[in-house]
Amino acid sequence: MYDMIIVGAGPAGMAAAIYAKRAELKVLLLERATAGGQIINTYEVDNYPGIPGVDGFTLADKFSTHCDRLEVERKDGEVAKAEKDGAGWKLTLDGGEVLETKTVVIATGAANKKLGVPGEEELRGMGVSYCATCDGAFFRNKEVAVVGGGDVAVEDAIFLARLCKKVYIIHRRDEFRAAKSLVTALKACENVEFVYDSTVSSINGKNMTESVTVHNKKTGEDREIAINGIFIAVGIEPNSGTFEGVVEMENGWIKAGETCETSAPGIYAVGDVRTKQLRQVITAAADGANAVTSAERYLIELK
Ligand SMILES: Cc1cc2nc3c(=O)[nH]c(=O)nc-3n(C[C@H](O)[C@H](O)[C@H](O)COP(=O)(O)OP(=O)(O)OC[C@H]3O[C@@H](n4cnc5c(N)ncnc54)[C@H](O)[C@@H]3O)c2cc1C
Repeated sequence: MYDMIIVGAGPAGMAAAIYAKRAELKVLLLERATAGGQIINTYEVDNYPGIPGVDGFTLADKFSTHCDRLEVERKDGEVAKAEKDGAGWKLTLDGGEVLETKTVVIATGAANKKLGVPGEEELRGMGVSYCATCDGAFFRNKEVAVVGGGDVAVEDAIFLARLCKKVYIIHRRDEFRAAKSLVTALKACENVEFVYDSTVSSINGKNMTESVTVHNKKTGEDREIAINGIFIAVGIEPNSGTFEGVVEMENGWIKAGETCETSAPGIYAVGDVRTKQLRQVITAAADGANAVTSAERYLIELK
């Protein structure tokens, strides 16, 4: 029986593991893919204090090395089910293995939102991408589109403008939500064309992406733009499906405040998966620390 099982080894889960280990809890860190979470594919993280301009992979590796230094116990696996088990919790992994724990920290983060248009699923990996840092190099000297208006979309477009012949940025409004400094940098790129007030109707092509059809909401006109690739950056959605019916949620985000306590006793939600104002590495790491502090109090009361 563990004191704590942490589900997900992104920045929030790894920060929780560091605090739990230092609190001398019997803790297990579970991860279904590679430790690091979303930042692994981030070109540059320039706002994590103390390590300016670090690339996402290196930052994730620093978190992971810190866990190893403290000899955090880890396991590969995806949690498929969570059930109440007396005073504690029973977690079933995708392979069927059952783990018992007194507390659970849900650190499952978030994933890219889909557009849900024809061609998106069919051409995924054949010109349709959700990661400019991972796939941008395949489109050197080609023409691509970026969809979205937030920080990630604008960062992606700036990054791609350095590699590609032309970048269209398709945004449903005529103003960007992204930081002003990023928008200024994007506007300075000569090979970027702004396609404002427009939504994507379909992504077209036989075996490869050949074009995107956009609908201008103001003029009502449809336009087909020839492209080789399209990068979708329209936000994120929570990886919370496994815990439906176990903890209360708001549009899929697990309801929890600064203490990270959820509606279920002994379950804490940290990082991007919980209801919060700002989803970043620094707030994810802070949640990891706060959740362990809450859990320590809970474990004392449980005795
Ligand atoms: C392109 C991009 C750029 C970004 N740039 C910045 C930036 O510059 N600065 C910044 O501060 N933030 C940035 N962010 C945001 C930052 O990456 C997130 O806020 C942060 O990663 C959240 O950490 P997390 O641990 O909550 O979740 P995640 O990083 O999403 O990690 C969750 C982990 O849980 C695992 N998991 C999910 N479900 C299960 C399951 N059922 N069982 C086991 N494991 C599971 C996943 O595989 C993943 O490893 C960026 C994000 C993106 C996508």
